Amino acid sequence: MRIDIISVLPELIESPFNASILRRAIEKKLIEVFFHDLKDYSSNKRKQVDDYQFGGGSGMVLMIEPITKCINILKSQRAYDEVIYMSPDGKMLNQKTSNKLSLKKNLIILCGHYKGVDQRVRDSLITMEISIGDYVLSGGELPAAVLCDSIIRLIPGVLGNETSALTDSFQDNLLAPPVYTRPYSFNDKNVPEILISGNQKKIEEWRENKAIERTKKLRPDIFD
Ligand code: SAH
Repeated sequence: MRIDIISVLPELIESPFNASILRRAIEKKLIEVFFHDLKDYSSNKRKQVDDYQFGGGSGMVLMIEPITKCINILKSQRAYDEVIYMSPDGKMLNQKTSNKLSLKKNLIILCGHYKGVDQRVRDSLITMEISIGDYVLSGGELPAAVLCDSIIRLIPGVLGNETSALTDSFQDNLLAPPVYTRPYSFNDKNVPEILISGNQKKIEEWRENKAIERTKKLRPDIFD
């Protein structure tokens, strides 16, 4: 999979890709991620990429020209499955969307900043708008990093044990069961006995029951 991320401040999004699981995915060549600084696509001498909004009002708006130029250059080089705009009024991100996107080959992700992007960009170039929650952040870079992380960890081979993403919350409309590690006993609090029984079948049953119990209690809305 290839992901192209367009931003006015690429340095805001680069670091999550330099550590842990995302870095390993890049090193293993399971994904390629490219950052594009919108300023490089400005035809303006001062590298201007934003301007005041028509009609007045505070806050700058990202201009249509550099965004169009960047996206068109990328599109002339390969076919893209989706051109995604991170936006608080987009479709709320969930595991189902991440699963679907993890099967794609080429994605463009556009990060807004300030007041957002000129509406004409959204009308003509964007195929999908995604929000990471009902709150407003200063830019689309952190939301794009969240989206990329949730997608990339689902690509086969990225996580050490391929089945481990399958046992995470939301994959089967269930929250994950509780997990424990050593020591067995801490301040009189013991790990549930079943987990050290060695009976794998019973352990799996226990985990499933706990997942069901937890989902019913904490997220009755997703319990199927
Ligand atoms: N004026 C806009 C918010 C702009 S915030 C409005 O009220 O809807 C600046 C940029 O941050 C947006 O263009 C978007 O790319 C990003 N952003 C902010 N909050 C976000 C969220 N919850 N999900 C996804 N992107 C978000």
